[in-house]
Amino acid sequence: MHDLELINVGKVYDDGTVAVAGFDLAVEKGEFVAFLGPSGCGKTTTLRMIAGFETITSGDVVIKGRNVSDLPPERRPTSMIFQNYALFPHMNVFENVEYGLKVRGLAKAERQERVGRILDKFGLSAIAQERADNLSGGQRQRIALARGLVVEPDILLLDEPLGALDANLRRVIQDELKILQRELGITFVFVTHAQSEALGLSDRVVVMSNGKVEQISTPRELYTRP
Ligand code: ADP
Ligand code: ADP
Repeated sequence: MHDLELINVGKVYDDGTVAVAGFDLAVEKGEFVAFLGPSGCGKTTTLRMIAGFETITSGDVVIKGRNVSDLPPERRPTSMIFQNYALFPHMNVFENVEYGLKVRGLAKAERQERVGRILDKFGLSAIAQERADNLSGGQRQRIALARGLVVEPDILLLDEPLGALDANLRRVIQDELKILQRELGITFVFVTHAQSEALGLSDRVVVMSNGKVEQISTPRELYTRP
């Protein structure tokens, strides 16, 4: 069974905009897939449909054999990471990371255990009590990653997660992402308009334009294309 399948997926917004059309893709467990294309080509819309945040106009998104449209939010095996981190500004770091476990109804002792462990792993324990909006971009994206991963998703969805970082931090977090994905062995779907990120990180690149898949290639194939 594939970890993730998109079968002839399309999205038409209420205003008639055709954002995505005829999107087909099958992703194996543990693959790192990048959606690459210019602004407006439908990357985020596709990612949001996989996350269950956006209704699907046509076709199916299937995760581990289950149709996303049939899964209530707390049962979806995905977490999403955003360019702007989307942390809860009034909560401290610990509470931000704990949030998804509360939503899923985990008991307090287990929440504390799991949050403690992941803060440790991400080097965030010392700032557990800080408000998230006081911290640097790199720290905030690490908190967002910890918040997404603490629920142990099968698939991590990343929407331009390096886009708000300066060039140095972008390289650091890019390296951390690659290590993390290898270590966890879970599927990553990564949206970017930056070719260097797509080629540097992914096992396969889905090249998009105008709501359609242009080609699906390995970075090596894209590098050596005449
Ligand atoms: P990308 O992520 O590649 O920049 P998007 O998925 O955000 O592309 O957008 C694809 C197309 O859908 C664009 O033409 C965009 O303007 C349009 N679009 C995105 N969100 C909405 C919306 N909520 N309502 C109408 N059109 C939208
Ligand atoms: P409450 O009874 O309000 O749920 P908790 O005892 O869960 O309070 O925790 C209060 C605050 O202490 C949390 O919001 C969090 O900031 C912090 N905290 C709790 N456990 C830990 C931990 N293991 N590591 C770091 N901070 C923690």
